[in-house]
Amino acid sequence: MMRALMYTGTQAMEMRDVPEPVPAAGDVLLRIDAVGICGSDLHAWHGHDPRRVPPMILGHEFAATVVAGEGTGRRVTGNPLVTCGSCEYCVQGRNNLCANRTMIGMSRPGAFAERMAIPAGCLVELPDDLPAARAALTEPAATALHALNLSMRALARPLPECSTLILGGGAIGMLAALLARHYGCRGLVVAETNALRRASLERAVGCRTFDPRDGVPPRESSVDYVIDAVGARTTRQAALAAVKPGGVVMHIGLMDWASEIDMRKLTLAEITLIGTYTYTTADLRATVRALSAGVFGDLAWVEERPLADGARAFADLDAGRTAAAKVVLRP
Ligand SMILES: [Zn+2]
Ligand SMILES: [Zn+2]
Repeated sequence: MMRALMYTGTQAMEMRDVPEPVPAAGDVLLRIDAVGICGSDLHAWHGHDPRRVPPMILGHEFAATVVAGEGTGRRVTGNPLVTCGSCEYCVQGRNNLCANRTMIGMSRPGAFAERMAIPAGCLVELPDDLPAARAALTEPAATALHALNLSMRALARPLPECSTLILGGGAIGMLAALLARHYGCRGLVVAETNALRRASLERAVGCRTFDPRDGVPPRESSVDYVIDAVGARTTRQAALAAVKPGGVVMHIGLMDWASEIDMRKLTLAEITLIGTYTYTTADLRATVRALSAGVFGDLAWVEERPLADGARAFADLDAGRTAAAKVVLRP
């Protein structure tokens, strides 16, 4: 038996003794060293994700050590998307779009546990100088990196020349802001409703922030590049309103699944609206190197807690009681 933080029902998590994972052919067994709480885990905890059905073990942002199977003893993170390797997209190296994908912590047991089984092909090796609690940031940081890479192909001018607005200062907004600044983006502003998170952004990124509920929003059609790291109806509207003619809107989060889009402006002002989903394995590898090189800073804004305090961590994140845009649990 092992200890696991089980998602047992809407807004309910509890530590339970559960049977050890049984690795399938080609799987390795991991000892989880650190695992981050994702916005999508919180979304599931609220009962808003029909793909994540309780009782189950959530968690897909892990750093771990291989304890059985190929490469025992290696320190790793991994791609939580388990992909087929042979469909059109996998063959193109765009395995985030794999037609046959399943996902750790969604359609397979996740990492809020002492141990987890995963196909060996999903693993990405960690350098010795990257501690587990920072390596657990690989997955959200790779999401930001993938999104910025896609955007930079669409921006008319190089990123350092673009005025940039990020909507949402959660982990993805924070990591996108850190990466954009590393890439030389100077005119960067982040909209975030939580005052604790605004302070944390100003400290970590050194950018201007404002509260979209009462702060002065950017003028209509004044920003070259908008990242919507929330994905709500209201943020989509704000993004489309703020973007300049010829500009780019990158849509990362997905809080509301549907809403109206200003198709008139999109068309007449030649706005590029890009959707992005997760990362490829190449993005994960690049992100591990970037984290190890300090591209995302010291990550002092990340909070560590024991896995046994996971239920409280979910409640604190939900209530906005923590300044941390990311809580990493240690089994
Ligand atoms: Zn995640
Ligand atoms: Zn595939």
